[in-house]
Amino acid sequence: MSRELVIISGKGGTGKTTLTSSFAYLMKNKIIVDADADAADMYILMEPEIKRKEFFKGNKPAKIDSDKCTKCDICRQLCRFDAIYIDDNENYVVNEMKCDSCDLCRLACPAQAIEMVDTISGEWYESETPYGIMVHAKLYPGAENSGNLVTMVKHRAHILSEEKGIEYILVDGSPGIGCPVISTISGANFVVVVTEPTQSGLHDLDRVRQLCDSFKVKTGVVVNKYDLNEDVANQIENFTQEKGGIFLGRIPFDVNVPKAIVNKEIPYVSCDSIKKPIEEIFNKSMENL
Ligand code: SF4
Ligand code: SF4
Repeated sequence: MSRELVIISGKGGTGKTTLTSSFAYLMKNKIIVDADADAADMYILMEPEIKRKEFFKGNKPAKIDSDKCTKCDICRQLCRFDAIYIDDNENYVVNEMKCDSCDLCRLACPAQAIEMVDTISGEWYESETPYGIMVHAKLYPGAENSGNLVTMVKHRAHILSEEKGIEYILVDGSPGIGCPVISTISGANFVVVVTEPTQSGLHDLDRVRQLCDSFKVKTGVVVNKYDLNEDVANQIENFTQEKGGIFLGRIPFDVNVPKAIVNKEIPYVSCDSIKKPIEEIFNKSMENL
């Protein structure tokens, strides 16, 4: 069974791509999983050549058959997401963007006028990159990155790793603590949390740490751009150790990092100031994986 290393952050824009792309460069014998389908940075940096494409079925929203509907209003009253409304023709209609696919209206409808319908919400791919195989996904406009999508791409990576005898899976997770992140953390062997030296970064880190603790996953912390506020960077290091986490290291601010990403270069390769710290963070992470 391959070992799974996940990189996440409390919120977007903390430098997760910098670290994940660097790990993708440094780690041998791995499959890369891009579980952050809302952000295109990893896709741009890894330059995947797509070898397989499949459709991803998202949530099943409810659909009302107006020929069967008796307009009893039960479904509209029950739906706690306010997803059911009456249109200009006085028909009962489901707003798919609001529907949570809870199935309650279908079960309650006395006329059996409601069904849950499959929708294609995106595509997932297996690709070759200069750094190994990558499993990734693209969501159609309006579709949300769901836990199901993350579970699916991770599952696919595990199947491939078994088939090909690959030792590691490197996952670029979504920011935050929502449903996709929960799916990202689930089953991981080690989670690296990237944060920035601000009070909100510390707050976000605490939320992510609690989430990881609830999954009993070992967690390491990296402070990106630590030199923008060394006092808070010190607070984060102390906080991590107090809470039993592993402090993996600090990456300095380098104005060339965003330029490298814009130029489709892995920051680790083109920015000298971050090379050594990232190598140390990588080695420490692999020791804990
Ligand atoms: S519960 Fe069924 S019959 Fe009643 S309004 Fe809704 S769809 Fe129509
Ligand atoms: S499936 Fe649930 S969320 Fe969707 S319309 Fe029916 S009651 Fe509302």
